[in-house]
Amino acid sequence: MKAIVLEADWAPREGFAITDAERVARKATGSAVWQNPRFAARSLDDPTPGHNEVVVQVRACGVCGSDTHCYETDEQGYIIFSGPVSLPVVPGHEYTGEVVAVGKGVRELAVGDLVAAEGMLNCGVCTVCRTGRPNQCPHLEMVGFSSPGAYAEYITVDERFCWKLDGLATALGSAQAALEIGALVEPISCSYNGIFVAGRGMRPGDHVAVYGAGPIGLGAIALARASGAASITAFDVSAERNALALACGADAAHDPRDVDPAEAVLEATRGLGADLQVEAAGAAVQTMPSIERSFAPGGQMIYLGRTGERAPVMLDVLVTGAASIAGSRGHVGMGCFPRVIRLLEREALPVQPMITSRRPFDDFFAAIEKSCERTDGKILLVY
Ligand SMILES: [Zn+2]
Ligand SMILES: [Zn+2]
Repeated sequence: MKAIVLEADWAPREGFAITDAERVARKATGSAVWQNPRFAARSLDDPTPGHNEVVVQVRACGVCGSDTHCYETDEQGYIIFSGPVSLPVVPGHEYTGEVVAVGKGVRELAVGDLVAAEGMLNCGVCTVCRTGRPNQCPHLEMVGFSSPGAYAEYITVDERFCWKLDGLATALGSAQAALEIGALVEPISCSYNGIFVAGRGMRPGDHVAVYGAGPIGLGAIALARASGAASITAFDVSAERNALALACGADAAHDPRDVDPAEAVLEATRGLGADLQVEAAGAAVQTMPSIERSFAPGGQMIYLGRTGERAPVMLDVLVTGAASIAGSRGHVGMGCFPRVIRLLEREALPVQPMITSRRPFDDFFAAIEKSCERTDGKILLVY
């Protein structure tokens, strides 16, 4: 099968304390160990399904900011992505496709089913998994980073990570439409998990502020709209992404260099502040000072962006305002995927504008290059 393979040099940074287990598995924090990344088109063996596994013929895969972070490097040539990475690997984790083979023991899926699949492969056995924090599983493998991904014609996946899209195809009247919009289920589910699983959710009538209007922020905006937000104020440094924020349900979208974001939130909420603030910019050093000044009493911040830097926070505002901060990663195991799929079936999420570019799989290199501009919503590879 045709596939894209990511390779790089294993070169742990000086001062990065690597464990024996990491050295043996050659799996560790990407930005600390992998230097000089190279993406190449390769021909690999077609996969066969193991026990409980299905083979999915990939039909669509979104280019994620994390993929961009494996393509881009810092001044020393290290990849920017800071999650666990084991190379070489086939990247790609925001995918949909059609089941073309089922292994022994598969119960819920059959050849011909259309599916979207979770990309955080938690073990399901450890204490962390079995006490309700599957996204924090210490044995987590990540599709496209430490486990073979979907920038390939086929991928094998345990059926427990798959969710059917057949209802979505019926609702939209088109299998192709379901496969394309279905590739957004993964990033939207990361927003869903942050707001409604890791965080304490939101209530109809809440004021909402969202920092960062990439796919995760846009997913948060669409979910807030579907949940009955009274107002949604968005911030991004890209004019294109601010336009997308409005298209996905925000009431206002500002460049944070043109306005004082905290003032803009206070103005939009008649001085009350935001009940829910979502940080999806990965720029906490810049955004925290605004966020801490514009909490509604009892407000909550959901931290979805990532940065290796220490952010300035005046924690006293959490005391005075009974505010809270919840961090979150991932989307697996807590029913996020099926709920997002149901919302898409009802066309209750205004996320269609998020897909700003569709390209054939063979255009992978142009697509990943384009993603570095950070002006698109979601660039979709269609197979
Ligand atoms: Zn992603
Ligand atoms: Zn586990």
